[in-house]
Amino acid sequence: MNKQNLSQFDPEIYQAIKHEQSRQEENLEMIPSENFVSLPVLQTLGSILTNKYSEGYVGKRYYGGCEFIDEVEQAAIDRAKKLFGAEHVNVQPLSGAPANIAVYFALLKPGDTVLGMDLEHGGHLTHGHPVTYMAKIFNFIRYKTNDKGLIDYDQLRSVAIENKPKIILAGYSAYSRHIDWKKIKEIADEVGAITMADIAHIAGLIAGGQMENPVPYFDIVTTTTHKTLRGPRGGMIMCKEKFAKDIDKAVFPGFQGGPHENNIAAKAVAFKEALQPDFKEYAKQIIVNAKVLETEFKKMGYTICFGQTDNHLLLIDLTNKNVSGKEAQKALDKAGITVNKNMVPGETRTAMDPSGIRLGTPALTTRGMKEEEMKIIAGWIDEAIQNKDNEEKLTEIKNKVVELNKKFPLYPELE
Ligand SMILES: *Cc1c(COP(=O)(O)O)cnc(C)c1O
Repeated sequence: MNKQNLSQFDPEIYQAIKHEQSRQEENLEMIPSENFVSLPVLQTLGSILTNKYSEGYVGKRYYGGCEFIDEVEQAAIDRAKKLFGAEHVNVQPLSGAPANIAVYFALLKPGDTVLGMDLEHGGHLTHGHPVTYMAKIFNFIRYKTNDKGLIDYDQLRSVAIENKPKIILAGYSAYSRHIDWKKIKEIADEVGAITMADIAHIAGLIAGGQMENPVPYFDIVTTTTHKTLRGPRGGMIMCKEKFAKDIDKAVFPGFQGGPHENNIAAKAVAFKEALQPDFKEYAKQIIVNAKVLETEFKKMGYTICFGQTDNHLLLIDLTNKNVSGKEAQKALDKAGITVNKNMVPGETRTAMDPSGIRLGTPALTTRGMKEEEMKIIAGWIDEAIQNKDNEEKLTEIKNKVVELNKKFPLYPELE
């Protein structure tokens, strides 16, 4: 066995990791789907659990030697059940996309119809975007937001009545408002559809008690574990007991092979963190911080899509600022502020160069930043966008960003 340290054996990869660590320490991470995991989560991810094959489920494995793996996976399941009040949990999906695909395979036959949110209005690629294989197998149809920026529940209902979808899917990557789960459940019941919520973005806000939880109402709830939930990169499916067998069979052996137990153990550790009282404070501060950004951007004349934010993210339409999303992303990158370009409702440009940017507060809130920092950062973002071609100005902002971040160190233990 190779007994050297990574830094000795493979300086190329070691250096790249160190550079990435500096990038994370020095920049303002405002991509709303990103976060920073704790040291215990990192330790667990790098543990010897990665060595073990454990195809199957707790107590029903194909391989021997799974007694400790079973303890780990059962703990992850029990903690997730406690966190969300779920009847049944599958913690094996490798990420959010495989979790959604497993649900489609569990519940649908080729050609069956799924009603989900339009992509421009905040839906996700895995909800049947034409570039995905799922869109070739199943029939995805759409609902949208209305001109007040809210999910158009009336339109959702009329499309549902007209098309009788097998699944009604609620869950979004760029939508910033509360979701009326009960109303969607009522519509689904009216047309005999299965309800599926994809809470990938807001799982941490739900776990922290700051947004309504769909788990009591919905048949199936999928999530990632690495966004606001602040765990390792991974996925999870929660469902009513009635669907448990079909979901489990679809994940394994239907779609995936051996589960990644180092990852499942890290999920368990992250769920334990989310069950602590201070996680509620964290979730609350994420939203407080996002509201401060909203107030500041509105003062500076920016257009906030969907009217406002109720969660961790803002979708900003830059049309009135005469800057495209791509240009803004590039300028902000130079200023040390990481956001992503994004389509806006009624998009008139292209996906590769859309009209908006999407930004959020989960990662900065993990660093410990609060209202005061949000005000300063909103000012820098505006300054960078206004000076998108002024390299000197952008470097000036970047230097201020680095200074601010020094007050909020991320991983001093990993120096
Ligand atoms: C991020 C996200 C996913 C996909 O998760 P991956 O882990 O990137 O596969 C699915 N659905 C929604 C709503 C998301 O935001």
